[in-house]
Amino acid sequence: MYFSSIRLRLTLWLSLTLAVILTASGFFWLTYLEKTLFTHADERSRLIAEDILSFHNYYHTATQIQPSCANLRDFIQSHTWGAYVQILDDRGEISCTSANLGTNRLPLDKAALLHASRGEPHYASIEQEEGRALRVLTYPILEQGRIFEIVQIGEPLAEIEETVDHFREVMLMWSPLVILGISLAGWFLAGRTLAPIASMNRSMHQITVENLGERLPVSDSDDELNQLAGTFNNMLARLSDSVGRIKHFTADASHELRTPLAILKGETEVALRWAKGPEELRATLVSNLEEIDRMGHIIEDLLSLAKSEAGELYLKITEFSLSDLLQDLYLIGNHIAEAKTIAVQLHLNVEGEIRIRADQLQIHRMLLNLVTNAIKYTPAGGRVSLSLAVKNDLAFVAIADSGYGIAAQHLPHIFERFYRIDEARNREAGGAGLGLAIVKSIAVVHGGDVSVTSEPGVGSTFTVRLPLSGPPPRTKKA
Ligand code: ADP
Repeated sequence: MYFSSIRLRLTLWLSLTLAVILTASGFFWLTYLEKTLFTHADERSRLIAEDILSFHNYYHTATQIQPSCANLRDFIQSHTWGAYVQILDDRGEISCTSANLGTNRLPLDKAALLHASRGEPHYASIEQEEGRALRVLTYPILEQGRIFEIVQIGEPLAEIEETVDHFREVMLMWSPLVILGISLAGWFLAGRTLAPIASMNRSMHQITVENLGERLPVSDSDDELNQLAGTFNNMLARLSDSVGRIKHFTADASHELRTPLAILKGETEVALRWAKGPEELRATLVSNLEEIDRMGHIIEDLLSLAKSEAGELYLKITEFSLSDLLQDLYLIGNHIAEAKTIAVQLHLNVEGEIRIRADQLQIHRMLLNLVTNAIKYTPAGGRVSLSLAVKNDLAFVAIADSGYGIAAQHLPHIFERFYRIDEARNREAGGAGLGLAIVKSIAVVHGGDVSVTSEPGVGSTFTVRLPLSGPPPRTKKA
């Protein structure tokens, strides 16, 4: 059994707790029983003493003389239920005893006498010979503040002791049996409760990266084990998703790097075999350098994406003018667009200069990606516009073009890595499908976002939203 230790521990804890509870409660009930029986016995003795006193008074009132010992014995015989009675006179001499005392006498010690002299009843437990115990009540009867008589009632404690002993024996005999029985039941229940964990454990052992699609069985009930299985299944789903994306990404990345490598290799081989002179070799080297640059860019982009996903993209936050940055981008855009005769415009829909707390280089890189894309995917003679608006501590930078546009089915995917819409056109344009993924990661790491609206044949608008006060503390690093 896999979980024998937990099972054993649970059972041991249960047995131990039960043993402590049974011992404590047994002790309590035993003491309580003993105390109650004693109280009852004392109460009975007091009632007997009071009965004798009443009889005394009644007899005296009726006959004007004190009752004789014979009168008292008759009364005692029919009223005292087996208790021993001894009556002493004002000198402490025994004047009468119940018949059941025979030649025995009830002891009268100093403590009892002292209490009696104060008019207080006194109880004492007395050990007799042969280990038999007696509970003796010494009850004074006063007349004008002086002791007139002392009534002593003796109750044998054998019955009480027997009852308590019997109770103790029953406790001692049954408690271990109860503990054993409940421990066995606990052992059985713990086994049943832990069984699903064992089966879960077996299923978990069989799950590897290869079969992340497998799930643990979950039943209808909403108990803790099912919740655990549910949580584990959710974790598997997330892992499977991440592993899938990593696999996809690795495949795309290697494919992307293989193409320029193949071109490099091919061109180099051709040059080595067929080049006629240094001029041709030089031309090959120049072309090779372009491919190397291309690979370098792809690797750099991949690295920066990987860093930002791992939370290691350290932002160098400073306060700078977003208006100036857009001015710069406008000039760069104009420069790039010149060759394609595309008109670039800048609309600053804000009053005064807008300053922002962000990583200036990253923001520049992000917006430049959008501007170059806009120019890249707009045919000659088109239009590209940069605009800035501010609302509630948020800056909205929009880059709109009158280019090819993007069909609706592609829109949800264009921010994914290596996602390209038109392979042929893109290869010619030189993109690897990483630009928009980088734009999104930079916007997100700054606590902002990027969105797009587009209509094929009309144009596209990319809008970046950035908090002017900088990224939230969690993403603000270094
Ligand atoms: P690439 O390096 O291929 O440009 P991006 O990630 O920057 O990669 O863009 C992904 C795809 O989105 C591009 O292949 C392109 O088809 C499309 N795209 C990006 N920007 C625009 C735009 N302004 N107009 C039309 N299509 C665009």
